[in-house]
Amino acid sequence: MIIYEGKSVFSGIAIGKLSVYKKNEQTVKREKVADVEAEVARYADAREKTIEQLQALHDKAVKEVGEAGAEIFEAHQLMVEDEDYIESVENIIRSQCVNAEFAVAETGDNFQKMFLEMEDEYFRGRAADIKDISERIINCLLGGGSGGIESDEPVIVVADDLAPSETVQMDKDKILSFVTVHGSANSHTSILAKTMNIPAIIGCPVPLTDEMNGKEAVVDGFEGKVYVDPDPDILAEKKKLLLKEQEKKALLQQLKGKENVTLDGQKINLYANIGNTKDLALVLENDAGGIGLFRSEFIYLGSDDYPTEDEQFAIYKQVAQTMAGKKVIIRTLDIGADKQADYFNLPHEENPALGLRAIRICLTRPDVFKTQLRAILRASAYGKISIMFPMIISVDEVKKIKEIVAEVKKELDEIGVDYDKNIELGIMIETPAAVMMAEELAKEVDFFSVGTNDLTQYTLAIDRQNQSLDEFYDSHHPGLMKMLKMVVDGAHKGGAWAGICGELGSDLTLTKEFLAMGYDELSVSPGRILPLRKIVLETNVGEYKKEKGLE
Ligand code: PEP
Ligand code: MG
Repeated sequence: MIIYEGKSVFSGIAIGKLSVYKKNEQTVKREKVADVEAEVARYADAREKTIEQLQALHDKAVKEVGEAGAEIFEAHQLMVEDEDYIESVENIIRSQCVNAEFAVAETGDNFQKMFLEMEDEYFRGRAADIKDISERIINCLLGGGSGGIESDEPVIVVADDLAPSETVQMDKDKILSFVTVHGSANSHTSILAKTMNIPAIIGCPVPLTDEMNGKEAVVDGFEGKVYVDPDPDILAEKKKLLLKEQEKKALLQQLKGKENVTLDGQKINLYANIGNTKDLALVLENDAGGIGLFRSEFIYLGSDDYPTEDEQFAIYKQVAQTMAGKKVIIRTLDIGADKQADYFNLPHEENPALGLRAIRICLTRPDVFKTQLRAILRASAYGKISIMFPMIISVDEVKKIKEIVAEVKKELDEIGVDYDKNIELGIMIETPAAVMMAEELAKEVDFFSVGTNDLTQYTLAIDRQNQSLDEFYDSHHPGLMKMLKMVVDGAHKGGAWAGICGELGSDLTLTKEFLAMGYDELSVSPGRILPLRKIVLETNVGEYKKEKGLE
């Protein structure tokens, strides 16, 4: 047995034979041509064919991995049609009187180099995409097909690196796992692998020799290891793990695509909580109906200085576009207390959880607040974004916030920047004061989302960070349950919808209770969506209420 170690980009177990994938590298020769315009026309034809292939790949990927995973092929189509790229190829053909294949290869190399020299890691990652589209155009010029992998039985694909189009062309039923010698965790390959739910390991030094082809192997995506010719005890251990994984997956698969509706017809939205764009693959994989809480402060926490409007805009836009019209609730920054960023220079406080945090910082530093609001509003032109404000205690606060939002909208109108004029505004219910004012607050906003983590801490007067108080902490405290009912009733009376985005939302022992209370949405970590859906589908709310004497 030989063990190779790399970096896991998606967990899971795969057991099967290795299949070494070798690229169909085209050899391009430089040839003189007499009729340069005919060559330019041949290039135009190849471009058209390439676009058609990419469109087909896009449609295939949408079916297999969803809109987000398929986006790359739209991006590739744009690259094929990029004016600078086309101009460069045509210039080379005309000025050097050479064949189109050579001009494309030359342009591809130059553009790739340019991207590789860029400082931004994202753009460096795009060099692989340039290479991918250039090879595809050359393949079309040479009259080749769209490529693919040959294999009769499901295999573990081992490759140097895989271009996104290569992974999508492969027949998914025949692939157990991806293992690549190179590749980056940010590459579309790993994103696609994640979305496809296939264990994948990158940076793994498996030799790409013919002898490796057909060898028995185990990929352990939890450990980031590949066992080639595994010992019998390892094989037995991994088979057990695989069985467990398969049982879990089968259960969850059956629930994908189903509506969240109870036996007696009550519907509820099940959304996902995220902290950054890396979580998006999980959101799609687990079939979330939207994003109910994007903790935007993680953008600030991951930065050495205030993130600029454009940096934030790019992130919000990506989330909105990936969710393709599904609701994305962005919570404005909730810094302070347990989430500190040095550059905010917040004063030392005796009781930070009761101090300058969240919306209080935004209202005392309107410049920071407005930068974020501008970024969110600009991104709202690219999907269905809502804005949510944390740690609210009063109607006055909400009125002030709305004034600031109106100012930012006006500024954007003045410079003709597009945004969603009807963007939904909501607040988090995290303080007992907000619970008591639910109906009045509801009249001011479109929705509520209960932050049970903070609401519990402020209601029970127990620091959520202090583990030594665990014996006093009761997440099902009847007082808290009463509050949750008050919130949803107040919301509905005041004309707002209500959800829960704190951890309690994913407590499966309370799902029936939340349905009975009338909650419209639960937002939970992506992995909890399908287990929650299972309960919703099995619940009869009317009967539950009767049982509990609630009606
Ligand atoms: C909450 O308080 O329940 C919540 C969702 O916000 P956070 O955990 O980020 O404070
Ligand atoms: Mg909170």
